[in-house]
Amino acid sequence: MAKHYLAMDVGGTNIIAGLVDEEGRVAARHRFPTRSSRSPEEVMEDMAAHLRELAALAPEGGKPEALAVGLPGWINQQAGILLKAPNMPGWVDVPMAEIMSRALHLPVCLENDTNLYALGEWLHGAGRGLDNLLVVTLGTGVGGGLILDGRLWNGSFASAVEIGHLPLGPGGALCGCGRRGCLETVASATGMSRLGRQWLAEGRPTGYDGPPEELTPKVMHSLAQKGDPLALAVFREAGEALGLVLSAIFNLLGIEGVVLGGGATGAFEFIRPSLWASLAARVIITEPENLKLLVSRLGEDAPLAGGAALLRENMYTRS
Ligand SMILES: [Zn+2]
Repeated sequence: MAKHYLAMDVGGTNIIAGLVDEEGRVAARHRFPTRSSRSPEEVMEDMAAHLRELAALAPEGGKPEALAVGLPGWINQQAGILLKAPNMPGWVDVPMAEIMSRALHLPVCLENDTNLYALGEWLHGAGRGLDNLLVVTLGTGVGGGLILDGRLWNGSFASAVEIGHLPLGPGGALCGCGRRGCLETVASATGMSRLGRQWLAEGRPTGYDGPPEELTPKVMHSLAQKGDPLALAVFREAGEALGLVLSAIFNLLGIEGVVLGGGATGAFEFIRPSLWASLAARVIITEPENLKLLVSRLGEDAPLAGGAALLRENMYTRS
């Protein structure tokens, strides 16, 4: 009988849990609000209730093999502890693997959410067949996961790839991390909104006449479709910044491709031209035509497929 796994992608706002088969296909999913003002214990009880419902859907009365949890923060995978999650106040040193394991009677593995996303896109999505691949998510922040030599790269500190905090140069806007000029001050959804509002305040020409706080990447996307100069300039700036950082990574590591995912890739048609120009002008290790610039194929299912892959490949030690 085909094996099934439970996987869960935990965000600061929403949680998506799924029942996933061996091929990374999501057979059923639940989406529910994190409501992170509640205590971690209450949120985990809620998670367990949803996961039990999903487990009951396993075919032929089978039981899922294990649970993989993708978390937006730093974890100690060996110990199964969530050390810290910047967008989930109060979640400090939570022994989540043990608590969830006791609630569900299943082995549980924790992993960084972007790493699970990267595993999913690499094994089942847009990055299939590439042994050296970077996966970048453009959301509230800019996240990254790196596959090197056919393995998920965790470095010496069991971290995801903090591509969002690579510096674009000295100075620049203040980042959520407390430093200045990080990639995500320009290329994340938050960064694009900031840039749009700043240029709006400076009186740059635009057809937008709503309140500054409602100028989001989504709004700018529809403005860009009508040729709005401010919206187009924001996406051009984000693309240039991404191209600058990606060219450095291509030249450093010799990776073959990058998969871009996350909410802000909705406007990729407007980001891509300046991204490609900025990248192609700087890549020296090969002809730019040899580099693959790909868009996520699995979307929000990517971390779920990645979670199942993590469990299937036995890339965990806890039982
Ligand atoms: Zn930063």
